[in-house]
Amino acid sequence: MKYKFLLVIWGSFFLGSQSMAQVDEVNIYSERKEELIKPLLDKFTAETGIKVNLVTGEGDALIKRLEIEGKDSLADILLATDVARLYRAKSLELLQPVQSDILVSAIPANFRDGEGYWYGLSLRSRIIVYAKERVRPEQLSTYEAMTNPEWKGKVCVRSSSNPYNQSLVASMIARLGVEATEVWASGLVQNFARTPKGGDRDQIKAVAVGECDIALVNTYYLGGMLRSEMVDEKQAAEKVALFWPNQGDRGAHFNISGAGLTRAAKNRDAAIKLLEFLAGDEAQVWYAEMNFEFPVKAGIAVSETLQQWGNYIADDINLDQLGQYNAEAVRLMDRAGWK
Ligand code: FE
Repeated sequence: MKYKFLLVIWGSFFLGSQSMAQVDEVNIYSERKEELIKPLLDKFTAETGIKVNLVTGEGDALIKRLEIEGKDSLADILLATDVARLYRAKSLELLQPVQSDILVSAIPANFRDGEGYWYGLSLRSRIIVYAKERVRPEQLSTYEAMTNPEWKGKVCVRSSSNPYNQSLVASMIARLGVEATEVWASGLVQNFARTPKGGDRDQIKAVAVGECDIALVNTYYLGGMLRSEMVDEKQAAEKVALFWPNQGDRGAHFNISGAGLTRAAKNRDAAIKLLEFLAGDEAQVWYAEMNFEFPVKAGIAVSETLQQWGNYIADDINLDQLGQYNAEAVRLMDRAGWK
């Protein structure tokens, strides 16, 4: 350890920071797929010399793994694609707080934990897509109005086991209360075109082929399909359009991809540096350009695809509440018969 430290001093003194390559490392458990994060981690390594080891997996499985490994876990950072998972990791005491002026100034308060246990790193909205050929945007207004009789047998949405749906429902519980949200969820189920199946891309494809007229999906799936090299995906995406719901009241529902420092972290300083890098300008631009996500940091230009979707009002709810109401949301969707 001492030897390693001396090497760092020696290296930086004589050769500058570039020579520090590979002396430090960070280990990440990531719910985000490798291709959607690795290029960014490589940039971080190139700039700082800090090596990043990436383990990807399903969110719940990674949390379970952190639980089982306890203080022996080698993971320094948990990266998740939904706020409820980060909230749960905090509740299970798998994370530790990070105080960082860089993170606090880059990330609006509603998109990070008040005590610094997790930070949002990119934004995505769960919006309505509609069939351009069969639906006029004037027919749409709010999430609530998707339960109107005119949409009977015309709504597609993925399963209630999906965290994006759980967080949307949690936001409605926070805003409208359990009772009104349950009435809404039951009404939505009544309007389902089919038993929920597949991911968000599949809902877009189902709208494109006429299996349904409207669907709930995350923005970046639509962005990704519009720019896809797969002809069928691109063609499907071009048959639908995006509608920003609830623009006359609370705004469209937004969620985050985000990360927290694990309680077991052995490489604390390097891990915090990585979190700060992910909230920095270069990474924020990358999220927007490569993943079609909205930057969490203000003043970062969004990609051309995102610009085409125009201005919008976002629900400014503190995302902490989506975690608080997650279990309630799951039970509610169950009662409503949302498979
Ligand atoms: Fe996703």
